[in-house]
Amino acid sequence: MRPYDIIKKKREGHSLTRDELASFLTGYLKGQIPDYQVSAFLMAVFFNGMTPEETIYLTEVMLSSGTVLDLSAIPGPKVDKHSTGGVGDKVSIILGPLVASAGVIVPMISGRGLGHTGGTLDKLESIPGFNTGLDIKGFKDVLSKSGCAIIGISEEMAPLDGRLYALRDVTATVESIPLITSSIMSKKLSEGIQGLVLDVKVGSGAFMKDLKGARALAETMVEIGNSFGVKTIAVITDMNEPLGLAIGNSLEVHECIDVLNNKGPEDLVEVTLYLGALMLKTAGIEADLEAGTKQLKQLIKDESAVKKFREMVQLQGGNPNILERPTLLPHSCLSVDITSKRKGYIQSMEAEAIGTAAMILGAGREKVDSAIDPAAGIILKKKTGDFVEENETLCSLYTSDEGVVTEAEKTFLDALKFGERPPEKKKMIIEVIGQ
Ligand code: URA
Repeated sequence: MRPYDIIKKKREGHSLTRDELASFLTGYLKGQIPDYQVSAFLMAVFFNGMTPEETIYLTEVMLSSGTVLDLSAIPGPKVDKHSTGGVGDKVSIILGPLVASAGVIVPMISGRGLGHTGGTLDKLESIPGFNTGLDIKGFKDVLSKSGCAIIGISEEMAPLDGRLYALRDVTATVESIPLITSSIMSKKLSEGIQGLVLDVKVGSGAFMKDLKGARALAETMVEIGNSFGVKTIAVITDMNEPLGLAIGNSLEVHECIDVLNNKGPEDLVEVTLYLGALMLKTAGIEADLEAGTKQLKQLIKDESAVKKFREMVQLQGGNPNILERPTLLPHSCLSVDITSKRKGYIQSMEAEAIGTAAMILGAGREKVDSAIDPAAGIILKKKTGDFVEENETLCSLYTSDEGVVTEAEKTFLDALKFGERPPEKKKMIIEVIGQ
């Protein structure tokens, strides 16, 4: 079939076969099919969706565009975690070393931030010297020594995803369940894991703004993971306000160190322990979530987890002294406290707008190739449910560009809603799918 006929078939709402998807997309990877035809195909998928079979075929084609890791030489269960992305979501950086210190091998392939969402790789790269670009040999080497390693995608693993994601980003075709599913799952399945815990974010700071969409995405990803023989569980968690208190790359690494030192904010600790306990259960290390949570708390308390993080940072070329002296992380010379113009209980703090304020300060990327300021961002002093007096500090802004402070302040303040009474306490863990 010609590329034209494949696009037309999808445009008319028909299902594509495995061979049609494979010939079209491998042709693209080889440079035989141009971006404009693949863009049209992506838009047809965006509007018409895909059947579960087509989504499996698409994931298969993306997965087989690169290498699937064979980690059988490294003893221990291999389980990873992935988040669909949000604001202040630094859980992966804490979970890798925490769960590895319980004996699980965590081979994590992560992504970069875009728009209002942050990315694990950008956060880790704020650690002086940290290398997220290890090749497969280097990745396996760190994994066998410390049990966890975090890198980005490369030409070796699921390269088709890198090409398609860049195209989706500029053709407004990111928010499509089959495309998100095949993108995330092809990367995760190439890690050679036996288990996967997915954190599907829902709310203003997430891809999926409502529970119906988050549930559909979670169910599709669980089905795909299981159909490839990887035990997959999805947890839908709240992303209506930023997770934790820090938003911005080095600020978030500092907060990860706080959590590993048993000094983390409540919402971040709750989500981290829940996902971590599920990873231990999936790995067969603990029978239930209660026992898993107990073990993780102990590994934080006896400093095993923080030592594991130190080891991973050092093995990936980063300065391990940031663990004892987080002031070695990049920090901004300019910090501005933002105070409240009124008193009352904070009813909500819209995550997307706060992520945008952090991006304005320099913490995030507007385009894939924009530079970021590793030290820029926001530290929240108040969160939803807190009572605030007039003129009390709501947050501190950090940036190296004084010219952006007014816009960031306005964006931040517009994200907050106040009321006379405390709001109902929200649930962080909303639903579990695939257990
Ligand atoms: N993260 C990914 O890796 N891919 C998507 O499509 C969306 C989020």
